[in-house]
Amino acid sequence: MCRYVHLKSIVPVESFSPIHLLTDSRMAFHTTDISTKKFLVTGGAGFIGSHIAEYLLKNGAAKVRVLDDLSNGFQKNVDLLSAYPNFEFIKGDIRDLETCMNACKDIDHVSHQAALGSVPRSIKEPVYFNEVNVNGFVNMLKAAVDNNIRTFVYASSSSVYGDEESLPKMESKTGNCLSPYAVTKKANELYAQVFADMYGLKVMGFRYFNVFGPRQDPDGAYAAVIPLFVKGIINNTPVYINGDGAQTRDFTFVENAVQINVKGMLTENEEAFNKAYNVAIGESFTINYLYNSCKEYLSSETEAVYREPRAGDIRDSLADISLARKNLDYEPTRKFEEGLKETIQFFEQLYKDKQLSINK
Ligand code: NAD
Repeated sequence: MCRYVHLKSIVPVESFSPIHLLTDSRMAFHTTDISTKKFLVTGGAGFIGSHIAEYLLKNGAAKVRVLDDLSNGFQKNVDLLSAYPNFEFIKGDIRDLETCMNACKDIDHVSHQAALGSVPRSIKEPVYFNEVNVNGFVNMLKAAVDNNIRTFVYASSSSVYGDEESLPKMESKTGNCLSPYAVTKKANELYAQVFADMYGLKVMGFRYFNVFGPRQDPDGAYAAVIPLFVKGIINNTPVYINGDGAQTRDFTFVENAVQINVKGMLTENEEAFNKAYNVAIGESFTINYLYNSCKEYLSSETEAVYREPRAGDIRDSLADISLARKNLDYEPTRKFEEGLKETIQFFEQLYKDKQLSINK
């Protein structure tokens, strides 16, 4: 389904808190007591991982340890999490097995988010991507088995669908990979299945579809589309659309990724393990619609610059989320428009604060 909706008509701006912490919000995704449970979140200094770690800390987990080498993550996210007494940080690299072993010591549940995450960058640096996303992943699986981790959930990606054209994407039907990044995520799923079968690891993967939200990095050559658009419009710098802008994406607000990680780590449904799940909203929007929504919300008239399509990108993406609904009771809590407003407000505040500090 491709929807075109008038953004401002959906949710009044005033109904959102002015800044970032979506986990201040509204929803509890766990139904069991987590005050005796100890969690490891790899990549917890990054975008999705920091939200998962924050949710667990806010909800009283006995321990939340983050392992991150800060290669793409941020010390400011670690500082934010450090406000909680049950937080621990290991600055380390998942390419080192001993580091992974130490990180898994005395832990019950692992959410593995650490990886390199850009399709175009993977085309430029395939060896580095393989080292981190494949070798690092196997290190984490091995460390999880050796430390008797109860459940291990990890970030896969919608990129595993590759050239499979059917919509909506069903977990059982993937195509040929279109980038080294996609190969690394497919390899993760293959290794996870073997570790489940051979070592009895309770493991499941999440095929994220274009996750966005507060704290996503707007800077650097490999920034994602939503922070790039918002940053460009706010700062009045050129905004580029790759291709004709009619390509579609199932944009997923980060709270939904938090939900599935929490539910996956804590589920008692044995059927849920040894599978990979689509994590999305189940609705798709064109890039042009996204751009116009950002413009409208920010009251901007700035036109985007169209350029060549990007190598390795899929044309359309729309997820079937019925498997996650069935096995993990997953239900997206915030739709695209709501998430977009909250994200834009986060970046508006960020740039306002930056301007203030420059003017001081
Ligand atoms: P992110 O870059 O913000 O977070 C990844 C974190 O991993 C960073 O903090 C980085 O410093 C850390 N890291 C990288 N290499 C490491 C290493 N060798 N050792 C230890 N830590 C390392 O990215 P994100 O958007 O939060 O993505 C989280 C996960 O979700 C990744 O596995 C990514 O591939 C996957 N994913 C994300 C999206 C999305 O739309 N954001 C879509 C599909 C899949």
